[in-house]
Amino acid sequence: MTAALDVIVLGGGHNGLTAAGYLGKAGLKTLVLERRDVLGGAAVTEEFHPGYRNSIASYVVSLLRSEVIRDLQLEQHGYELIPLAGDVEICGEDHLFLNGEEANDRAEIGRYSAVDYDAMLRFEAMLEETGEVIRNQWLREPPSLKAGFFDLLGMIRAGRDLKALPEDLRYRLLQLMTGSAADMVERWFESDMVRSMFASHCVSGNNASFHHPGSAIPFFHHALGEFDGPDGGWGLPRGGMGGITQAMASFAREQGVELRTGAAVQRILVEQGKAVGVRLESGEEIRARAVLSNADPKRTFLNLLAPEDLPEDFRFDISHLRMGHASLRMNLALSGLPELRDYPGAGVLPQHQSSIVIFPSMAAMEQNYHEAKAGKLPSEPRLDLVIPSTLDDSLAPPGHHVMSLLCKYYPFTPKDGHWDELREPVADQIIDYLSRFMPNLKELVVGRQVLTPLDLERVFGLTEGDIFHGRHDLDQIFSLRPHPRAAQYKTPLSGLYLCGSGSHPGGAVSGAPGYNGARRVIRDLR
Ligand SMILES: Cc1cc2nc3c(=O)[nH]c(=O)nc-3n(C[C@H](O)[C@H](O)[C@H](O)COP(=O)(O)OP(=O)(O)OC[C@H]3O[C@@H](n4cnc5c(N)ncnc54)[C@H](O)[C@@H]3O)c2cc1C
Repeated sequence: MTAALDVIVLGGGHNGLTAAGYLGKAGLKTLVLERRDVLGGAAVTEEFHPGYRNSIASYVVSLLRSEVIRDLQLEQHGYELIPLAGDVEICGEDHLFLNGEEANDRAEIGRYSAVDYDAMLRFEAMLEETGEVIRNQWLREPPSLKAGFFDLLGMIRAGRDLKALPEDLRYRLLQLMTGSAADMVERWFESDMVRSMFASHCVSGNNASFHHPGSAIPFFHHALGEFDGPDGGWGLPRGGMGGITQAMASFAREQGVELRTGAAVQRILVEQGKAVGVRLESGEEIRARAVLSNADPKRTFLNLLAPEDLPEDFRFDISHLRMGHASLRMNLALSGLPELRDYPGAGVLPQHQSSIVIFPSMAAMEQNYHEAKAGKLPSEPRLDLVIPSTLDDSLAPPGHHVMSLLCKYYPFTPKDGHWDELREPVADQIIDYLSRFMPNLKELVVGRQVLTPLDLERVFGLTEGDIFHGRHDLDQIFSLRPHPRAAQYKTPLSGLYLCGSGSHPGGAVSGAPGYNGARRVIRDLR
């Protein structure tokens, strides 16, 4: 039987939707199947408490590629980005408010060091310049290890970008890629506050010791953003992260793509060594010339295929991919505005409209990481938070607010109990801790949604709660992501392709894996 469809996109996360938009635009008959009742994957806006809406998983954006915004006409489909005002960084009794204005930032950092402000400018300029090489790789297939030693063309392209850098920056780039976050901050900064602040920036994008080689890579996340605001430019999409994915869905529909929700795929159908379609949990079978999976690699290869559908050694490697981000996500509904202990004042202040990061010392963050590996929960977690309703009045009733919190490190498998029993007491403990820095917080909380690492797996289908579909360790990126035989979006199973964050360049709301995966399918089907 001939397939009526060209492509089934398995999963309607932002990368699946990005891919679908490009496939539809290329004239391929495309169907997106999403298991949840809402499109967007980890980039969604939902009502988590009556009257209060928020980006319930990912919550800030910077890395969304301008090519994707342009090609998928996201702005015409309602996407609008609101810049954050700056960064509030709190470490115990120490605190900084950085808004990108020299006089302010120099004076703030000057309270801790006479030289660290200038060092920060040099460090950020270095990240910006070296980051250009990384940025150039994002919308390209990583070189294949298959063709001889390395895929020649891919290596030449990457090598040419590297060669365009002055020698000193080439050295810095390689140092950043292979060195550790601890070495980096100790080399560049002198004060504990600025060192801990920069090290802490690596925590939200990582699940690794500050001393691991490669743990400095997340520094690039602050330099790769294309949105031009303060500090690498992080912002909030109006209406929450769903503002991005609804715009993507609207564009895809315009291209004739069919988008189905509540359509969980149970099996990828294989005939004569080729993926030929899918079977839904409802029993319905749908055939297509290609299946493009937006689900993470473990889910795709281990859950949705039979063992005999893949080479044994490939399956073995996939089963050993390191997953787990150790993140707990909380959304708070608030009847008013929290006061900031360190920046008191009436009404909404720029500090409320900033990214707010509360972290213990570098040594304590390191200890939290190691304890989480042993299943222990932190007493003083690192909290990354925003209060989006201070910039976007569409999320909460007038005068009320919503807060997003990303808390680390919380293990997927706690040692002393099950997440279903620990969820509420741990959330209480986090709110108690946060109240030290926001004294009136507790009296404002009218509702909360707590997503433990286990809930992230259950709700969003993220294996082991890994927010990036697999850790960004040195041996799990670029030509090795998720495996050398699947790094070019094509897999060892003919007809099956990848387009999710488990592929190069990895996690974050960038649209890059979706763009690259779609291009590979378009090339192969034409
Ligand atoms: C809590 C959290 C906070 C984050 N914060 C940020 C942030 O602030 N900024 C940022 O840039 N990034 C952030 N990230 C990372 C970023 O959101 C993700 O890397 C990105 O959204 C993943 O997109 P994706 O399309 O590759 O995959 P996903 O969004 O995971 O989409 C995959 C889709 O496939 C569906 N699916 C899986 N299995 C099946 C099946 N069998 N049948 C049908 N459908 C299926 C899933 O339901 C899901 O919708 C965060 C992620 C999380 C979870």
